[in-house]
Amino acid sequence: MAKLAVTDLELAGKKVLMRVDFNVPIKGGVIGNDNRIVAALPTIKYVLEHNGRAILFSHLGRIKTEDDKKELSLAPVAKHLGELLGKDVTFIPETRGAELEAAVNALEDGQILMVENTRFEDVKDGEYVKLESGNDPELGKYWASLGDDIFINDAFGTAHRAHASNVGIASNVDQAAAGFLMEKEIKYLGETVANPKRPFVAIIGGAKVSDKIEVIKALLNKADKVIVGGGMAYTFDAAKGNKIGNSLFEADKVELAKQLMAEAGDKLVLPVDAVAADAFNNDAKTVIVDSAAGIPDGYMGLDIGPKSIALFQEVLSDAKTVVWNGPMGVFEMPNFAKGTLAIGNELVKVTENGGATIVGGGDSTAAVQALGVADKLSHISTGGGASLEYLEGKPLPGIESLTNK
Ligand code: AMP
Repeated sequence: MAKLAVTDLELAGKKVLMRVDFNVPIKGGVIGNDNRIVAALPTIKYVLEHNGRAILFSHLGRIKTEDDKKELSLAPVAKHLGELLGKDVTFIPETRGAELEAAVNALEDGQILMVENTRFEDVKDGEYVKLESGNDPELGKYWASLGDDIFINDAFGTAHRAHASNVGIASNVDQAAAGFLMEKEIKYLGETVANPKRPFVAIIGGAKVSDKIEVIKALLNKADKVIVGGGMAYTFDAAKGNKIGNSLFEADKVELAKQLMAEAGDKLVLPVDAVAADAFNNDAKTVIVDSAAGIPDGYMGLDIGPKSIALFQEVLSDAKTVVWNGPMGVFEMPNFAKGTLAIGNELVKVTENGGATIVGGGDSTAAVQALGVADKLSHISTGGGASLEYLEGKPLPGIESLTNK
């Protein structure tokens, strides 16, 4: 069902509640990477240019104690947003109360204010009460009451969670619309994957089988090939009876791995070799070994090897749709980043040949950014967990709660 969009709304003179995802890396008030803020600018600018009065909500990190609040104020984010917009952003260091209400009522057309970290509502007087994360009905109703019955959700990263600042507000207003960023996520992840141009290849990597098993299963039903790399591949290797040395291994997932391999047949594509190291260290001694020959004792597989890269490139060579989540190795260490970088470069080729390429998850996104190829791919999803759940075909509460057209 198509959801209401920003362009469907009458914004002039209206107090517009907006949920954005400004969950940026931050240390000592210094923002490590402002991608998420920049990504929300088109929707924010649209609202301001159409004379809306923007009231911004976002979470930042996790708040479990009063102490967490010291490090996780959105004040530096509001300041940075003001610099990016070239406009004053009023920051309210509260999530409710008279100061916030007065500031909202003082807003003029085209002006913007930002509310303090919504997750400050998760801790009251030192107690972990989870009012935001638990979608407390009173809180959602209160935040909704601050606006003029219009809400825009542009925070895809939290769309897989029902919180007061997304589902709570949306359920208490007349019009809840998808922001431009959210619309793009729905278009690429939802429509492309529901109706992919084929061959459709999925690439899943990262550390643990247990985190991504559901998405692997779901993708085996939808894609033509599913490539599995990264640390999770060694549990599959072990299931085949290959020696894996000290590589990452989940003993309780061996049976599942066996079952998946039996069901999927040649649809499931696994690495055929590995770069193995004698320590978890960039300068460790390394050997390249065939998976079937096994990883020697005392060594651990930290990247896919050259034969796996060639195999994966071959599988990707005629792909028309590719989704990728999770690195092929410990890409944070340059000596074990080759496999991940090779996949990033291959995706550029797929895109240049007219294919749709979609990357989700913080690590794969970091990899394509490090490569400088992010803007050569079709879509970089802003949500890791949310994009995985969407790919699994689960309804996301943050999207479901938006108004149908
Ligand atoms: P995930 O969050 O599940 O996508 O996992 C990402 C993490 O997996 C990254 O920090 C990688 O360093 C790590 N990783 C990938 N391959 C391996 C491997 N072979 N051994 C250990 N860690 C790995």
